[in-house]
Amino acid sequence: MIFVISGPSGCGKSTLIKQLLAGLPGLDFSVSHTTRAPRPEEVNGRDYYFVSLEEFQKMQAAGALAESALVHGEWYGTSLAEIENKSKDKDLILDIDVQGARQIKARLKEASLIFVVPPSFSELEKRLRERKTDSPQAIALRLENARKEILQSDIFDYLVINGELDKAVEELRSIIIAHRCQFQARQKEFREILKSFEAGSIS
Ligand code: ADP
Ligand code: 5GP
Repeated sequence: MIFVISGPSGCGKSTLIKQLLAGLPGLDFSVSHTTRAPRPEEVNGRDYYFVSLEEFQKMQAAGALAESALVHGEWYGTSLAEIENKSKDKDLILDIDVQGARQIKARLKEASLIFVVPPSFSELEKRLRERKTDSPQAIALRLENARKEILQSDIFDYLVINGELDKAVEELRSIIIAHRCQFQARQKEFREILKSFEAGSIS
């Protein structure tokens, strides 16, 4: 199963995803390619694959990306290889923007789209400033884009409001667990149970 998580920069997507991965087995994170420079604490291959614009454009031209978008002036994309490798035996989370979410939905109809919002615009601004990873100009651009992104959220299946962190993590967990319980998703387990019913004798 593919879960796409989108939402304005600074709303808390990375924080939520980290907590989700730590507490829910069978889930993996899709590492994106980006032309943006790494932040001090970021690790190549764990947070992103950091590539040059030339490398990124080569991947685009070769059709190696499942989706890609120019976000806040830098390129971001999910490689087909990343999805194929990591979704073999696990559910996969993609942290991508609204443009990318649209492309994934067009490609993979079964993907679940989750939109995360902060409780208010002023709280988003506070979180971006307190994160201390972006310049005032970059923060202004991210806030300007947040106003546009929030108006494009009509394609999403779920809305998670990241006010109190623990509550938002619980809501995300619930969405994933509910998907795993769908009848269609449990055919293999159910077949085994059916077999036991067929073979079982009444003592
Ligand atoms: P995103 O990945 O959406 O850009 P981050 O996960 O980096 O956002 O979060 C932005 C900032 O907000 C970080 O400093 C993070 O610690 C903080 N944050 C995330 N969720 C909450 C929350 N529920 N309440 C308060 N601060 C939060
Ligand atoms: P950041 O630079 O803060 O890590 O991410 C900026 C924005 O890029 C976020 O909205 C994030 O969801 C988005 N993003 C990250 N990876 C991808 C990707 O592979 N594709 C797309 N379309 N957006 C991405």
